[in-house]
This record gives sequence, C-alpha cells and structure tokens, in this order.
Amino acid sequence: MSNQDYQAKNAWLEMKESEVEEIFTFNREYGQFLQANKTELEFVKSTVKLLEAEGFKELESYSSLKTGDKFFKVNRDRAIIAAVMGEKPLTAGIHIVGAHIDSPRIDLKTNPLSEEEGLVYFNTHYYGGIKKYQWVGIPLALHGIVVKEDGSKVEISIGEQKDDPVFFISDLLPHLGREQMEKKMSEGISGEQLNLIIGSIPAQKTSSEKESKEQVRKAILKLLDEQYGISGQDLIGADLQVVPAFRVQDVGFDRGLLAGYGHDDRVCSYTALKALIDIEKPNNTAMTLLVDKEEIGSMGNGGMQSRFFENTVAEMVNLSQESYSDLILRRVIERSKALSADVAAAFDPSFPDVYAKNNTPYLGRGIALIKYTGARGKSGTSEARAEFMAEVRNLFSRSGVIWQVGEMGKVDQGGGGTIAQFLANYNMDVLDCGPAVLAMHAPYEVVSKVDVYNTYLAYHVFFEK
Ligand code: MN
Ligand code: MN
Repeated sequence: MSNQDYQAKNAWLEMKESEVEEIFTFNREYGQFLQANKTELEFVKSTVKLLEAEGFKELESYSSLKTGDKFFKVNRDRAIIAAVMGEKPLTAGIHIVGAHIDSPRIDLKTNPLSEEEGLVYFNTHYYGGIKKYQWVGIPLALHGIVVKEDGSKVEISIGEQKDDPVFFISDLLPHLGREQMEKKMSEGISGEQLNLIIGSIPAQKTSSEKESKEQVRKAILKLLDEQYGISGQDLIGADLQVVPAFRVQDVGFDRGLLAGYGHDDRVCSYTALKALIDIEKPNNTAMTLLVDKEEIGSMGNGGMQSRFFENTVAEMVNLSQESYSDLILRRVIERSKALSADVAAAFDPSFPDVYAKNNTPYLGRGIALIKYTGARGKSGTSEARAEFMAEVRNLFSRSGVIWQVGEMGKVDQGGGGTIAQFLANYNMDVLDCGPAVLAMHAPYEVVSKVDVYNTYLAYHVFFEK
C-alpha cells in the first residue's frame, strides 16, 4: 500500500450494512441532543446529566485519581472538561479532543427593552459571524437566564414547544424593498434593525392616566412579573439568546443529511463526548474539552484563552502525582496531543467559485482533516506539522475511519479560525478535524450523517489507541 494515492471516497459506499443502521441510530440520538440544547448553558447541563449517568463524578469529589477514574469539571456553567484517567501516568501526556459549544446567534443588548408605535422589542446585538439577512422573517426562540439582584436565577426557554409563542424580526416587504434590494447584501439588514418583536397588546389605561405612552411595554412587564417573577431591571445584563425555533430534521428522500441549528460546533462536541463515554481504560488519559466563546474569538473566562484548561490539568496533577509541581504540569501539557474538533466548510455545488476543488472537504466523504485554517496566507492559524498529520492519518486509516482533507475555500477567498491555536500555544501537537457543514453559520445548517458517524469513530480511536 506504500504507493497508494490520495483520493477522498464516498463514505456511504465504504460502510457495511450493519454500520448504516448504526449511522442512522447515532444521528437520531445526536439530533435529539442538538434539538434539546441550543445554548452553551443547556449543553453543559445536559452533558453533566449524561456523564453522571455513565458513572462520571465531579473532580472535586476525588481525593486522588487513578487509572479508570472518570470525572468532569464545569466552569461557570458554560464550559466543561470530562476525562478518563489512562493506564499510563499523566506525564505521558493527555489525548484531548477540544470543541466549542457556542454557536452564532443573536444576543440581547444590555438594556434590551423598547417600545415603538405599539410594538415592544428586545433590541439585540448579534453574536459571532452571521449573515444578518438570514435571521429576519423566521421563527425565533428565546433561551437563557435572567439573574435577579438577590442572585436567584430564572431559566427561560420559549419557542420550542408546540404551543409556545415564537419571536420575530421583520424584513421589508419586496413591494417597498426596491432601495434595500439595491444595497450590498451585508448592508441590506443592519445590526440595529435586528429588533425582536416580543409584544403588542397594550395595558388598560387607569382613569388617572391621560397619556397612553408605552402601554404595551407596561403590559409586557406585568406579564413578565406574573409569569416569571422578572422585573424590567432584572433584564439588565441577562444572558438571553435568540436562536432559530427550527426543529432538527432529516433532509432528502433518503434522509442522508441532517439539518439543525448549531451543528457548528455541537456536532463535534457531541461526538467527542460520546467517544469519551464509550472508552474503557485508555492508555493515555483521555479528555473531552468543551468551551464557550469560540465564535467571538475564544476570549473571556468561558473561552479557550482562559486558564480553565490549565487549572484543571493542575488539579489532575495534584490528585494523581506523588507531589505537585509546576514543572510536572508543564510536562503533562507539553506532551499532550489534541484534536481541535471543529466543523469544516463543505463544498457547495451551487457556489463552486469560492472553493479549491482538490483541497476542500465534501459532504459524505468522512471526517475532514484541516492542516491549517487562517486567512490570506495562513495568517492567524496554528498549522499541524507533517509528523502529527501523518500520525493521525495513519491512525484513522488503520482503524477504518473514512477521512478526507481540506481547507476553507480558495487561498485569497476568506478564512476562519478554531481553538487549535490556543491549544498549540501550550506547545502540544494539534490538528483540526471535524465533519463538513453546508451553509455553516446559517440559522439552519446541514451535515451528512455518515460524516457525523465517522467523526465519532475518529475521536474514539484517538482516545483508545
Ligand atoms: Mn466552529
Ligand atoms: Mn463557527
């Protein structure tokens, strides 16, 4: 096989009949998890439930760590690390699969409430790289938490149940949209126009009130107080997120594709989680690392640039080594290997001009290995070195994982980033890999079920071998 040429294969044709059934079962479960967890807060909460059901315990509950121990550590409800202690000591390095659990969406402004001509709005500030015109004229749900000044939290999820109301951002009718339609697509809808309609029925005026200003706002505040115990002031700085109210559904007569909100990057988060749960006693300690804030640069205490990862490994060193030292911590991290588990941009036959055909991932051809991301001359990327690329290729090939390679579009076209560079800054080997996504960052994204399954297999063998 030493003279084998590279050729991406259609993964469906490589699967055994028994595997095809498993692909559909796996994707049904993934779809349910994706549907139920549209924010990082919800994803972390459900992840803890899933892990606890599989025998994982909070890291704090251990007084020492030994081979086979399974634990998790949550960071401020918004990021989570789960791990299984390996046969080898920690100083042999950890095998890490790192993904992000935030997705592009629309957040509320700090002071969100306003009333205009009998309509009450939440004014918004979008989160991550969205095409703003895609978020108007569709049903939207509201998820998140409102924290009162006494510290109590109110959890919100409205727009997902059959009888729930949804929320709405309007677009201009085509009849009056002539000037709008002449604009560049990036300017057709502005950030300040992404106003979410949340109410329209005014409160009854009392006899002493002559002016009927902001009567709808008044009515909405009364309703929020009655139904949720929330005041206008409680809305200040709340973590409320506007997400598509769409359901996860199969696409196509053959049901080979799966559409949903937030495949980027919950498809990698879910597969990395399942891969970890399904290992027994790995050689090296195995870790699934799920972080927040990737879509806005990985900054802040929930993001990959925070010390959460490093601090957690320090705790692991402290609980598993005879004595703790900073040097041991650094050795453990430096000898670790990571897959930066993130989605890739799938070739889109309707827009062929932006892709370099031989260097782009395709739907249905397995997990995509991305040697580097970045933009315009690899700027801003962490590049996997050839040695690590070959190691991972070899691992996947001999384990029967269907893989392909790719970049994000043509050289001068655009680009993007992942958490890879922040892991690589610790001086560990890192390679980006994940399934290709069609219509990435749209309110409704599409993946191929066979790619999702091969992504799970890939992360699993990375942990196990
Ligand atoms: Mn991503
Ligand atoms: Mn993204």
